[in-house]
Amino acid sequence: MRPFEYLAPSSVEAAVAALAEHGPGARALAGGTDLLVDLKHDSVSAGLLVDLTRIAECKVIEETPDGLRFGSLVTHTQIMESDLVRRHAPAMIDAARTIGAVQTRNLGTLGGNLVTCVPSLDSGPVLLALDAEVTIAGTGGRRRMPLGEFFVGPRKTALQAGEVLVDIVLPRDSLGKPCSFRKFGLRKGQALALVNAAAATRLDGGKIAGVRIALGAVAPTVIRATRAEAALDGRSPDPTLIAEAADIAATEAKPIDDFRASADYRLELIRTLTRRVLNEAIETATS
Ligand SMILES: Cc1cc2nc3c(=O)[nH]c(=O)nc-3n(C[C@H](O)[C@H](O)[C@H](O)COP(=O)(O)OP(=O)(O)OC[C@H]3O[C@@H](n4cnc5c(N)ncnc54)[C@H](O)[C@@H]3O)c2cc1C
Repeated sequence: MRPFEYLAPSSVEAAVAALAEHGPGARALAGGTDLLVDLKHDSVSAGLLVDLTRIAECKVIEETPDGLRFGSLVTHTQIMESDLVRRHAPAMIDAARTIGAVQTRNLGTLGGNLVTCVPSLDSGPVLLALDAEVTIAGTGGRRRMPLGEFFVGPRKTALQAGEVLVDIVLPRDSLGKPCSFRKFGLRKGQALALVNAAAATRLDGGKIAGVRIALGAVAPTVIRATRAEAALDGRSPDPTLIAEAADIAATEAKPIDDFRASADYRLELIRTLTRRVLNEAIETATS
């Protein structure tokens, strides 16, 4: 690993100022589970690491008037152990516990997971299905955007040079919304998703209302299957309708062939996982 300078500011503003002052040679460091591996293998370089882990506002999970707020430095283990998350968005716990192994979950952060913006990132589908928003800070101040707009392409987010992801907010309307997450990998543990999927829905007079379906590892970024959602909203759930929606979801994805699986196999997984997460969310909404 090449030598680098190291700073550990205690506020978002100080971190942004340090990143701005040092330009492209500076990088934000969170848990380091991705970045330190990249630095070690020289696939990225950094003259300065700006360690965000001393920034108190980014390390908490809290209920606010807006909803449930996750500081970007919250670790996957913190999510798994949070009573607030268990009460308001338990599917986030189901997703967090599939990430890496204990050591990765203890260090790896929710913000770091989103910023890597790989198509298979496991925290993405549940957050998209629950209409999460993110706050970004730069030298010009802070801005908020839907998570769907934050994901721009493979390994590309809406973050501009020197900007920091501050927090992720589940809006109040999404709290307690029935939601299910499923991941399929080639091993039971420490596996990248071949496909991961989340669905969230309410029932209004027995009809599907406000359904969301989000899929990972099947397109350049985590995506919403909006045509499948449109086919479901306002209808009474039944197995034929759910199977039709799962078929539509598969047409919205663009899975690739690679050494882990063929595109056809992934399409079959999308249909299967979409049916499962929809059925599970509907079952929770019914009970
Ligand atoms: C063995 C292993 C297994 C893994 N398994 C999985 C898995 O099953 N599922 C999965 O989704 N991921 C997995 N990962 C990937 C990784 O652990 C997660 O994505 C983790 O959440 C990354 O968070 P981090 O805090 O370690 O990020 P870091 O490595 O610290 O940073 C990653 C990138 O994000 C930037 N960054 C981080 N935080 C911010 C911020 N707040 N603002 C701006 N930029 C920021 C950094 O500059 C860097 O470019 C695995 C990694 C390893 C090493």
